[in-house]
Amino acid sequence: MGGTMEEFEKTLSRQQAAIEAERCLYCYDAPCQAKCPAHVPVPEFIQSIRSGNLHGARTLLQTSHPFIETCGRICPEEAFCQSVCTRSKIDAPLRIRELHRFVTDSTDPSDRMELPETTLGRVAIIGAGPAGLACARELRVRGFSCDVFEARQVGGVPSQEVSTHRYPREVDEREVHFLTSTFAAHVCTERVADLKPLAADYDAVFVATGLPFESDMNVEGTQLVGVHQARELLRKMKSGAISGAGNRVGVIGGGNVAIEVASMLREEDPTRDVTVVYRRSIKELKAFKKEIEEATALGVTYQFLAIPDKVVGSHRVEGLQVTQAHLCEEDESGRCRSEPLPGSSFTIPLDTVVVAIGQRIDQGVFPGLARSDSGLISVGENMQTSMPGVYAGGDAVHGAQTVVEAVRDGKKAAEQIAAFVAGGK
Ligand SMILES: Cc1cc2nc3c(=O)[nH]c(=O)nc-3n(C[C@H](O)[C@H](O)[C@H](O)COP(=O)(O)OP(=O)(O)OC[C@H]3O[C@@H](n4cnc5c(N)ncnc54)[C@H](O)[C@@H]3O)c2cc1C
Ligand code: SF4
Repeated sequence: MGGTMEEFEKTLSRQQAAIEAERCLYCYDAPCQAKCPAHVPVPEFIQSIRSGNLHGARTLLQTSHPFIETCGRICPEEAFCQSVCTRSKIDAPLRIRELHRFVTDSTDPSDRMELPETTLGRVAIIGAGPAGLACARELRVRGFSCDVFEARQVGGVPSQEVSTHRYPREVDEREVHFLTSTFAAHVCTERVADLKPLAADYDAVFVATGLPFESDMNVEGTQLVGVHQARELLRKMKSGAISGAGNRVGVIGGGNVAIEVASMLREEDPTRDVTVVYRRSIKELKAFKKEIEEATALGVTYQFLAIPDKVVGSHRVEGLQVTQAHLCEEDESGRCRSEPLPGSSFTIPLDTVVVAIGQRIDQGVFPGLARSDSGLISVGENMQTSMPGVYAGGDAVHGAQTVVEAVRDGKKAAEQIAAFVAGGK
């Protein structure tokens, strides 16, 4: 019980990595590299593995991607590099992410880099998640000094919420400690609410505050004891505390957060029944395939085509009343809409309900910043917000994405900030 769980996937052995590296075709146009949002030089690092130069492979990875240990474990490779691997036309795609992981697991993470003097300017980074720390790294390497402001815990969502069976705490601490101690001048624990003082004090500001809030479920009974928000529960378990969930848990939702919390609750107590309740069918589940497979292997079960009507109970949760659904035409996301079948409601007996139906941006901060209708921060092509010198990226701009996409934004913003500061001097 508690926060330290055995890691689900094992690292490749030297022999497995060598065999896998031998399979690379070294395509001249490297579609894997183009498809990786951080543009990791995939063929080059695989060539280094092949020639036994693991430190060289690590340097190649680290130079292009600051969260290489994180992505070696949790990058959804099926959506990026591996989806375009030419080798899949012959047999199966290369296990690129696992090769990353092999390199980072086999080499010294504390290798230090030569860094230039910080003479180019001072930048405030708000939010120490993948986007913020990627930006800090890129700017520091160029000769800027970066102060990082973080409301909760450095590392962002992966450190705070991704389960330890996929992303162990010691790996997280090693990577985040390396990044903050090497590339940030100061790390301040502070929830920044107003950008104007920072914009006046620093040469530029990068906002990478992610989506710190969760969507509420508008049905009767959510005030009952035993109803939890998924990410709050993940943070609790990740911190090492006991979740407090009961023996019959229903997780409402079909995205990565729903699958993550369902898996972690099963891992915490393998005798507990955990059912994911989803309004559509298995085909429409938004979570990544690998995570669904892991959850299923852990014993998570599913109630598909069920629309929650209300949480049932007097003081505590006793069940979830749902109406059976059928699928209609596709909506704007390309997935089939679900519609209730009249008169088909039934109650699933539960003692705990976990709500995992979406993530939200914090709209109570940064007055004066232009936002989209859903509150996401609006930026131009150059990632600058409506305030001159204030840039933004990551989930706070695009909505829920992935670590490697946040890294892409952090790197791109650093380039734009460097040009902006150089232009003003
Ligand atoms: C449960 C879960 C599982 C996921 N699993 C995966 C996965 O397996 N693979 C993958 O690639 N992606 C995964 N993701 C998505 C990934 O974690 C995010 O896309 C990524 O972390 C976004 O990075 P970011 O830097 O934009 O924001 P975040 O990681 O959210 O970091 C933002 C940081 O800003 C801080 N902050 C917020 N407001 C303020 C403020 N006002 N002042 C100061 N600091 C502030 C927050 O505390 C946070 O630390 C998952 C997401 C969740 C929720
Ligand atoms: S970071 Fe992700 S997309 Fe990029 S090469 Fe690694 S596994 Fe592939």
